[in-house]
Amino acid sequence: MMYLRRMSYTSSLLPIYNQIAAQQASGKVADYIPELAKISPDKFGAHLEMLNGSGSQSVGDSHEKFSIQSIAKVFSLSLAYQLLDGKLWERVDVEPSGTPFNSLIQLELENGLPRNPFINAGAIVICDILSGLLDNPAEAMLRFIRDLSGNDSICYNIRVAASERGEGYRNLALANFIRSYGNIENDLDQVLDFYFLLCSVEMNCVELAQSMLYLARGGKNHLGQTILTPSQAKRINAIMLTCGFYDEAGEFAYRVGLPGKSGVGGGIVAVKPEEYAIAVWSPLLNEKGNSCRGMAFLEEFTSVTKSSIF
Ligand code: GLN
Repeated sequence: MMYLRRMSYTSSLLPIYNQIAAQQASGKVADYIPELAKISPDKFGAHLEMLNGSGSQSVGDSHEKFSIQSIAKVFSLSLAYQLLDGKLWERVDVEPSGTPFNSLIQLELENGLPRNPFINAGAIVICDILSGLLDNPAEAMLRFIRDLSGNDSICYNIRVAASERGEGYRNLALANFIRSYGNIENDLDQVLDFYFLLCSVEMNCVELAQSMLYLARGGKNHLGQTILTPSQAKRINAIMLTCGFYDEAGEFAYRVGLPGKSGVGGGIVAVKPEEYAIAVWSPLLNEKGNSCRGMAFLEEFTSVTKSSIF
């Protein structure tokens, strides 16, 4: 019975892909990062990776690398959580923001304590925390991501990082504002350089789904090593569910019903604990900065396979 159900997971991917690809595409490629504006809006791919090698399926442009942008915040949060455990929450909260990913509005009311680690404010504080704990945070971060995916070809894209740095006035403002409350402790420029590099990580859908499986496996990587405790993994999944899509987190929970994380490169990754991780990529974004086709694809996938957590 279980086998049949899993078969249906993998075999459902292509029909869903064809169905969504045939629909009129809406949305807009992110253009506030000039390098991202160059990406073809027609790219569309997905990859499903079941737990413990029990199946996988790729469709469309699933082997083409793209900028994972804010999805990388799951990795930076995981590394900081591994290093600091509960002390982490003295510097960043775990509440949904209900505001856009780059919003400044709550920071003043809340004395520079970001609502959660996935909005830009929170992710910049996580980069500051890692900068204080590690000699070379960018190198350690890449090592962590490569180890999770079992793939040493994963890299930062220096051009994308520089392109965002050149236009990154919002993030500069956020970092300065947080600094004024004392919640950034290291050199501001270095923290921002690290943040922009983090966002520039490139992966394809296969790599992205595989690298996120530790969150489906209670915190263990593909070698059975503990990356996070089961409790920490549960909590990161919870934060993904409640905060992974900014002011559209409710919509994603309502339509898809899985912990997930989006990025303005058009990627979305979602995790079904104990079962699978799935990555989708289509660069056309809605006004909240989330991939239109990515959301539609995942909504269809969890509906057809009845695998929402709800
Ligand atoms: N690097 C992007 C930024 O800081 C990440 C935003 C995103 O992917 N939602 O604006």
